[in-house]
Amino acid sequence: MISLRLFPAIAFCFLLSPLARGAEITLVRDGVAQVFIQVAPRVLEPDRKLAAGAPAADTEAEHERQRLRESTRDLARCLEKISGAPIQIVTNLPAGALGQLPILIGEPATQRFGPPAKKSPHQQAWRLVAGAQGLGLLGESDEATSYAIYELLDQLGCRWFLPGDLGEVLPESRTVRIAAQDVSAVPGTISRHIWYADEAFRRRNRQGGFKLSAGHALEISGYLTKEQLTAHPDWNAELNGKRSINGRYCWGNPEVSDALADSIIARLDKTPARTVSLSPDDGAHFCECARCRALDAGDWDESMNRFSSTDRFVHFCNRIAARVTKKHPDVLFGFLAYVQYTRPPVRERLHPNLVPLIAPITYCRAHAMTDPQCPSRQQLRRIAEGWGRTSETIAYYNYMFHLAEVAVPYPMMRQMSDELPLLYRNKVKLWNPETMPNFESILPGMWLAIRMSWHTQAEPRAVLDEFFTRFYGAAEAPMRRYWQHFDDAWNQVPDHAGCGWSYLKRFPPAFLKTARETMDAALAAARTPLEYRRVKLQDDALRQFERFMALREDLAAGRYAHLDRDSLRWQGAQLALADEHAASFSFNRVGWSTYTIAGGYFRTFFGQTYDDAAKLAKSHTFLAPAIRQWRFQTDPEKNGETRGWSVPDTDDKTWRTMDSCVDTWSGLGLDKYFGHAWYRATVRLPAVPAGRKTFLWISASDGALSAWFNGQPLTFTNRKGETTTDYHGYAEPTSVEITHLLKPSAPNTLVFRANRTDVINELGTGGLLGPVGIYREK
Ligand SMILES: [Zn+2]
Ligand SMILES: [Zn+2]
Repeated sequence: MISLRLFPAIAFCFLLSPLARGAEITLVRDGVAQVFIQVAPRVLEPDRKLAAGAPAADTEAEHERQRLRESTRDLARCLEKISGAPIQIVTNLPAGALGQLPILIGEPATQRFGPPAKKSPHQQAWRLVAGAQGLGLLGESDEATSYAIYELLDQLGCRWFLPGDLGEVLPESRTVRIAAQDVSAVPGTISRHIWYADEAFRRRNRQGGFKLSAGHALEISGYLTKEQLTAHPDWNAELNGKRSINGRYCWGNPEVSDALADSIIARLDKTPARTVSLSPDDGAHFCECARCRALDAGDWDESMNRFSSTDRFVHFCNRIAARVTKKHPDVLFGFLAYVQYTRPPVRERLHPNLVPLIAPITYCRAHAMTDPQCPSRQQLRRIAEGWGRTSETIAYYNYMFHLAEVAVPYPMMRQMSDELPLLYRNKVKLWNPETMPNFESILPGMWLAIRMSWHTQAEPRAVLDEFFTRFYGAAEAPMRRYWQHFDDAWNQVPDHAGCGWSYLKRFPPAFLKTARETMDAALAAARTPLEYRRVKLQDDALRQFERFMALREDLAAGRYAHLDRDSLRWQGAQLALADEHAASFSFNRVGWSTYTIAGGYFRTFFGQTYDDAAKLAKSHTFLAPAIRQWRFQTDPEKNGETRGWSVPDTDDKTWRTMDSCVDTWSGLGLDKYFGHAWYRATVRLPAVPAGRKTFLWISASDGALSAWFNGQPLTFTNRKGETTTDYHGYAEPTSVEITHLLKPSAPNTLVFRANRTDVINELGTGGLLGPVGIYREK
C-alpha cells in the first residue's frame, strides 16, 4: 500500500475542509464507518452448481451474479483497507443503521433511485448516485452493477496494475469522502477481454462486456454435412485444380452461402445466440476457381504477396447475413480480418450486422502505426482506417507479445500510446487482444491498453504517468527510465523481424549495460517492501534476458563450449520464475506447455543450435572463428548460378556486406522478399592432419539453402536419410562433410544460396540465422 502523501492529485477527495462538505458524502470519518452496504439476498448466495448442459445464458447469469457478490465484498474490503473501518454488508436495513448512510447495490439501489439514464444494447449501462440519501450503485445487469462499484473505488484512487497482491495500489486515509454525484454511463467499448489474468483482476479493471464470436469456425462447426458436400462437389473449394471434400468451401457459389445461412438459422431456432462467427478455419489456402477469383477486387496485399481476398469473403458473408437476419435480425456476425483477407474491402459494403475483427498476424510487432520508418505498420494503419470506414463497429485483435520470443522486455509504450487513440477514432468498439501470462514483459503498454479499453478517450501520457508514479513509488524515476530505454530500442532500430534473430542489433552490450545500471538504481531507490517486489519482478525479467543475450553473444563469438549448460540454465530459470511469479501472471506459465510459452519458443528456435554447438565443441575441433561476415546479394531473376555466383573467383566486391548473427532479411529491407539471395565468404584454414574428416556446420537457417565449397556443390542428408541439394530445417543445425574439398594453404570460398519459397513469412527472416563453422575430427 502506498501512502496518500505521495499523491497530492487524488488527496483532494479526502482532505477538503468541512465548509465544502455539502458537495461531498462521507463514507468513513476518522476511522469510523458512516455507511453500510445493502444488497439483495440472492447476490450473497454461495456458488450454484449448474446442471451439465445448462443453457449458456444461465451459466453467464450465474457468473455475473458471482462477480457482483465478489465486487460487493471487495468494496467493503477496500474501504476497510483504506480507512481501517470495518464496513457491514447486509441484505435488509439493520436496526442499528440509523445514522449511517446506505450504499445500495443492485436491486435496492434501482428501487430507490431508478435505472441508469443511459442504455446499452449489451446491458452495460451503469449508474452511480451519491447524495444525502445515500449511495446507489446499479446497472442494466449484474456485471454493469459491478462496473458502478469499481467506478466508486476508481474515484477513490484504487488501482490494480498487475494481477495478484503485487498489483494493488490503494490510498490510505482514516476519512473517506466522495463527491456528490449522479452519473449514468456506458463503457467506452462494448467488449474488453484479455486472455490470462485472475477473475479479481478482470473484475476490478472492468474487463467484460459483449463476447463476439469471431474465431475459426465456418468449415469446422458442422454447418454443412458430408452428404451435402458429397452431393454438391462444386460447393467445395477448387484447390490445385481439384474439387473434393478438402475442408474449404467455394465462397463464390451462392448455393454455399444459402446452405450455410439455412444451417445457421436452424441452429439459432433451436439455441438462440447473440453472435455467430463466419470466420473460416485457420490457414491461407482458399478456393482458386474462376468464380471466386472474379470476386476479388484486384487489391494487392503486400504482406501476403498476393491479391487480397477480402472482397470475395465479404461478398460471401453479406449473403449469409442478409438471409439469416430475415429471421434473426439481431444476430451479430463476427469474422476475422486475417491473412489474405486482412485488408478492408474496396468494392463490397458491409451488411450492418457484420463485425470485422482485425487480426494483423503478418504485420511488424516492433513499431507503431505512426512510425514513418516502418512500412508494415503504416500499411496496418491504412487497414484500420479502411475498416473504420466500412462499419460503425470494429473489433481489434492486437497481439500483446513480441512474436515468437515472448520473454523480452517489450513495453509497447509508444505503440499503444499512438495506436489506441487512432483505433478508437476508427470505430474500434471491441478490444479483444491476444494476450499471454507475460505481464513482466509488457506491463506499461498492457496497463495502458486495459485502462483505455474502459476510458477510450483517456490521455495515454496521463495514464502512464499515473502508472509509474503510483506503482513504483520511490523507484518511479529509474523505472520510468528503464522501461523507456527498452521502448526506445524497439522504436529506434529499423528491424521488423520476429523472434530473437535481430536482438544483437537491437540490444547490443552497451544497451544492456545501461539497462542493468538503471535497474540497479531502481532496486536501490525502492522504499517499501512492496515497491521493492515490484521492481524485483522486472529485475528478475532483466536477469533472465541477460542470460538470453549472453547465449546469443557467445554463439555469435564462436564460444560454443558451454552453450548447452547455459541454455539449460535459462530454461530452468524460466520455470522457476514462472512458479515464483504465477500470481502476477508473469513468465508465461500455461497448462498446455511443459516449458512455459517462452521456454517452448526458446527450445524450438534456439535450443537445438546451442546443444549441437556445445556437443561439437567438445567432440571436435573448430578450425576457424564463427563465420558471420558475408557478401550478400539478392537474385530475384534466380539466375545467380548461371552468372557464376557459386564459383570462387566471381567478383563480389560490389555486393553489400551483412552479419548473419545480427542482420535479418527484414533488417536488410527484405521483409516481403520471396526469392533467392546469395551469401559469399572466404576463409583461411589451418592444415588438417591426415585422415581427419572435416565438416561445414550451419547453426540455423530459414527456407531452402544450397551450398558450394570451393565451387563444388554440397549435398545434404535429410531426416529420411535421402540425399538432397537443398537443406531445409528451420532453426535446426546441420553438418556436411567437406574433407575432400578443403584447401589448407589457400583461401577457401564458401557460398550459400538461400531461397525463401513460401508466400508468407511472419517472422521476416530468411537464409542464414546465425554463424557458420568449420570443424574437424580431433
Ligand atoms: Zn470458388
Ligand atoms: Zn516495423
